[in-house]
Amino acid sequence: MRIGAIEAGGTKFICGIGDENGVILEQISFPTNHPGQTMPQVIEYFQGKEVEAIGVGSFGPIDLSPGSPAYGCITTTPKPGWANYNLLGALKQVFPVPFGWDTDVNAAAYGEVKWGAARGLSSCLYMTVGTGIGVGVYSEGRLVHGLVHPEGGHVPVRRHPEDDYAGHCPYHGDCLEGMAAGPAIEARWGKKGYELPAEHKAWEIEAYYLAQSITQAILLLSPHKIILGGGVMQQVQLYPLIRRAVLRNLNGYVNTDAILERMDEYITAPGLGQQAGLCGALALGLSAARGNEGRLE
Ligand code: ADP
Ligand code: ZN
Repeated sequence: MRIGAIEAGGTKFICGIGDENGVILEQISFPTNHPGQTMPQVIEYFQGKEVEAIGVGSFGPIDLSPGSPAYGCITTTPKPGWANYNLLGALKQVFPVPFGWDTDVNAAAYGEVKWGAARGLSSCLYMTVGTGIGVGVYSEGRLVHGLVHPEGGHVPVRRHPEDDYAGHCPYHGDCLEGMAAGPAIEARWGKKGYELPAEHKAWEIEAYYLAQSITQAILLLSPHKIILGGGVMQQVQLYPLIRRAVLRNLNGYVNTDAILERMDEYITAPGLGQQAGLCGALALGLSAARGNEGRLE
């Protein structure tokens, strides 16, 4: 099978072709400019590629409600040209194949369930910590949508006692994303994240914020696995700091071996590495080709 995959990000669009085993056969990326510039490149790439279906994992917020007039659109983004842009519609007009459509982070969660660190599990939570913070949720064998879709980057967090950074979220100031996404680290310390040494105080503060929302996710959703990806998580010293902070927060209350004995496997890096998003889009496409969206067959 040849399935198309699109990871539509705020910085770049990654397009590729993969097969039913999660193997990416080829890929290319285009910068996310105005849709009038980017979309013709995406469309041209897939022309003549003879794919049976295409999966799209998109930056958001997006409309995922099948009955809605805005289904397939990116909704309220500040990115020029993309607010209310019908991304799915533009693709459907050109390619008469089944489409999978979900958030980039839901796609990544699904890819991890099919072929990565959460393989075969009935639930997992995927969090990306990059330019923004996004959360995808797979639960009871399907991707969680609901009223809109999870927006776990914008949850309120308790301030670290030694942190006086105001936060950079345009909506909330000091929400999780405002305090812990890549740009917050840079603004707080006046240096890019990768310029700060591994033992810098920045990482303890970073882990303090991320661990709060992970603790809440564990208590609210009870996922079988928590997967943390994105550029900031390349600071691998964060994983043990986060695990310790989550254990402190839970304080023995969630009494399961996964948390008390196997925390290293419970909170983990993506099994698919940097390919989680694209493989997730591939998984969505494969699911659409088989006529079932977002379910683990
Ligand atoms: P995006 O979120 O734009 O799709 P990334 O996941 O790569 O892309 O996130 C980019 C953010 O991650 C930037 O703020 C960047 O400074 C930060 N970042 C990238 N690499 C590292 C690193 N090795 N250490 C710390 N921060 C990093
Ligand atoms: Zn916010």
